[in-house]
Amino acid sequence: MKYVSTRGRAPALGFSDVLLTGLAGDGGLYVPETWPSLDRAQIAAFAGRPYAEVATEVIRPFASSDIDEADLARMCDEAYATFRHPAVAPLTQVAPGEWVLELFHGPTLAFKDLAMQLLSRLMDHVLTSRGEKVTIIGATSGDTGGAAIEAFRGRRNVDLFMLFPENRVSPFQQRQMTTSGAANIHPIAVKGTFDDCQAIVKAAFGNRSLRERLALSGVNSINWARIVAQIVYYFTSAVAIGGPARPVSFTVPTGNFGDIYAGYAAKRMGLPIADLVIATNINDILSRTLATGRYEVGSVQATASPSMDIQVSSNFERALFDAYDRDAEAIERLMAMLAQSRAFTIGPDALETVRKHFDAGTADEDQTRATIAEVWRATGFLPDPHTAVGLSVARRHLSPEVPMITLSTAHPAKFPAAVEAAIGAPPALPPGFDDLASRREDYVVLANDQSVVEDFLLANANAVRDEV
Ligand SMILES: *Cc1c(COP(=O)(O)O)cnc(C)c1O
Repeated sequence: MKYVSTRGRAPALGFSDVLLTGLAGDGGLYVPETWPSLDRAQIAAFAGRPYAEVATEVIRPFASSDIDEADLARMCDEAYATFRHPAVAPLTQVAPGEWVLELFHGPTLAFKDLAMQLLSRLMDHVLTSRGEKVTIIGATSGDTGGAAIEAFRGRRNVDLFMLFPENRVSPFQQRQMTTSGAANIHPIAVKGTFDDCQAIVKAAFGNRSLRERLALSGVNSINWARIVAQIVYYFTSAVAIGGPARPVSFTVPTGNFGDIYAGYAAKRMGLPIADLVIATNINDILSRTLATGRYEVGSVQATASPSMDIQVSSNFERALFDAYDRDAEAIERLMAMLAQSRAFTIGPDALETVRKHFDAGTADEDQTRATIAEVWRATGFLPDPHTAVGLSVARRHLSPEVPMITLSTAHPAKFPAAVEAAIGAPPALPPGFDDLASRREDYVVLANDQSVVEDFLLANANAVRDEV
């Protein structure tokens, strides 16, 4: 399987190279050259199988040219053994025909663990076989940083530098990043905002000599391997409630479009999915785009679901690429327009295709809070604010024949203030986190300054190569 860039000017690469590269050299995103497909019998046979086994089968066609099946199976086993629930991603019914897919049983209580735990093993495996090391640099507003650090701590071939805005992540999130105790993990509190952190990371990748000396690599949600890992739970959950014999629908709390794009991939692979509903908070660029055809970047508003406080939804480019019949020049024109004027208009045929695959809806802050309280009282399931955005939107997209699965992307304990505002009491912390508040923190505070951060990377990364 080869991967091509959505902008058509970067070389086609195999799975391992795409894994280590992240963003394509032409600024585009890598997608598989063709969609592998699973037939009904293969999908039906997933019923009752352990999560790691289904993961191996779903991921295999994407990776088989580069990764041995036995190695892949072992890495899936190890990745999903870190989860606290034996089903890894169990379903909970919240009403007739309405289900919640619990994706928060991983080590950092957010769905990002499902991809990150596998990604770190895949990367380490490829680097070991090549005898290489890389330096991962990322910016986080909270969840991604914790999941990446937990997944990469102690990995021999990787140094991970994670930038977060000083005093602007929750104490829980900060401690998840700063208490790993691992020598290859370098949390950096930047005296600035999340946007400042992101700008520094972007500029570091743009600095060619730094990029080559440090063998920089990324693990943000545009990394193809993260998408691949997320395809799996669409299959396991659909099969658990009657797929592929009957279609199911999904509602997905969405920020960067990675998670819902994985649902689209499952559909392209042959899983019968009726609707894929994009759920956004008041940062509603995606639902506006579906309604009007115009993708128009506004300013980010802070909400109770901060992991969806995003205006530029990077992975949407992948869906557009298919909607434009894989016309890379058309995508390049749209993205040039976006860079120039913060907006573009989707052509009528492509818009029709996007609308054929996706629906969208928005939940504002009042609806989110009300949904947390309603679902809690009616069912005993306590949704976190991101999940509540999904449930609020899902309830406006129900159809009597088709079951609806809403993805639950975080444990409520990660967002205690928002949950307490909704139900009047703080959520209980799951076992294993009791000592988080007393673990020793280890991180540096750096100025919001490109050269200060770059000097720190050069002084502390193991992958540093001599100046060429
Ligand atoms: C990252 C995240 C999302 C958004 O996922 P995308 O793949 O960026 O759309 C939703 N909820 C939570 C809790 C997250 O951490």
